[in-house]
Amino acid sequence: MDDCIFCRIVRGELPASKIHEDEHTLSFLNIMAAHPGHALVIVKPHVANIYDLDETLSAAVFQATTRVARAVKAATGCDGITLFQANEVAGGQTVFHFHIHVLPRFNDDKLLPFWPASSPSRAALDAMAERLRAVI
Ligand code: 5GP
Ligand code: ZN
Repeated sequence: MDDCIFCRIVRGELPASKIHEDEHTLSFLNIMAAHPGHALVIVKPHVANIYDLDETLSAAVFQATTRVARAVKAATGCDGITLFQANEVAGGQTVFHFHIHVLPRFNDDKLLPFWPASSPSRAALDAMAERLRAVI
């Protein structure tokens, strides 16, 4: 993808403050950081979202995320870490090249409001699980 921001970072055409790199992934700091140390872990090939990740890339990106999360924890002294990963506009994605946010969190930082949760019946849970098993 010629004009994809993250492809351009992978190719070295745009600057990035890099943290880690391996054959399949690149990790660097987010230019719009929720807290210092807010990192992004991306796959190197242009893959738009989670639906298109192959097994090699999905394994590699989570291994890299694990390493980056430990580094963010050690370097920032944060109280916790939230992983955030968005797919498609409805999912909150703004850069359409697969990435995982590694977000350092601090007690009471109130960064991410939690969604209002309902409590489905066991029958509803079982029915949905059946629908998912049918397509997995
Ligand atoms: P999304 O909303 O797709 O989950 O996250 C995209 C993230 O990419 C945003 O948090 C945004 O700040 C970050 N971002 C966008 N452009 C650049 C860039 O050129 N460099 C870096 N390091 N991050 C970027
Ligand atoms: Zn791309």
